[in-house]
Amino acid sequence: MNFFTIEQPKPGSPEDRNGRTDSLPEEGFNVGECSRCPACNRPLSMLKWLPPYRVELQSWGKHYGDIAEISDNLIVSERFLQAFTRSDVKGLLCVEPVDVIKVVHRRGKPTEPLPRYFKAAVARSATTVDQQQSGYVWEDKTNVCPKCLFGKLKRYQALIVNEETWTGEDIFFPRGGHVPIVSERFKQVFAENGLFGAVFTPVEEAGYDSCPWEIRAATEY
Ligand SMILES: [Zn+2]
Repeated sequence: MNFFTIEQPKPGSPEDRNGRTDSLPEEGFNVGECSRCPACNRPLSMLKWLPPYRVELQSWGKHYGDIAEISDNLIVSERFLQAFTRSDVKGLLCVEPVDVIKVVHRRGKPTEPLPRYFKAAVARSATTVDQQQSGYVWEDKTNVCPKCLFGKLKRYQALIVNEETWTGEDIFFPRGGHVPIVSERFKQVFAENGLFGAVFTPVEEAGYDSCPWEIRAATEY
């Protein structure tokens, strides 16, 4: 099985110029509680976004992006939703329409009409990151919670999914990881339908470092 991380295109990249759209919730939007680990009480999500779902969009490319936000929720176009529903892609929950209250065009206006957009929550999965194989380095390993597999994290080199734990979602927040991961199928459906606004990195290359100066110091001296 191949898994990937999913991100919005970097500014100035070909994917950005082709079709990136950013979504910002309306100022003063409503929030509820975040979800917490039942064992250590650590927040496992951002504060829950509550209705009304109203957003401002910024378009950066020739086309409107089909994914305009990647966090606890995705903001996706109707085209995205249709393609993914048709292909029975799993892992998106609580799909609801959003109202677009303002659109700013940063690099000219796309020629197609503004799509309808929806928000969809990304599943929190029992699918687990193999932290050992992924090269996780903790500030204090004895503080890592055995339930949510989190603690004060310094860095990791990859986000290898323990395939035996995979519960079948095509997009999910894994246990022991803090970014969404997608299946090969998700990536395929995105590409086959010519959708815009996301780039994928193999989990083997998806490293993260919260204190890169330590590595620099170690190599310089
Ligand atoms: Zn915990």
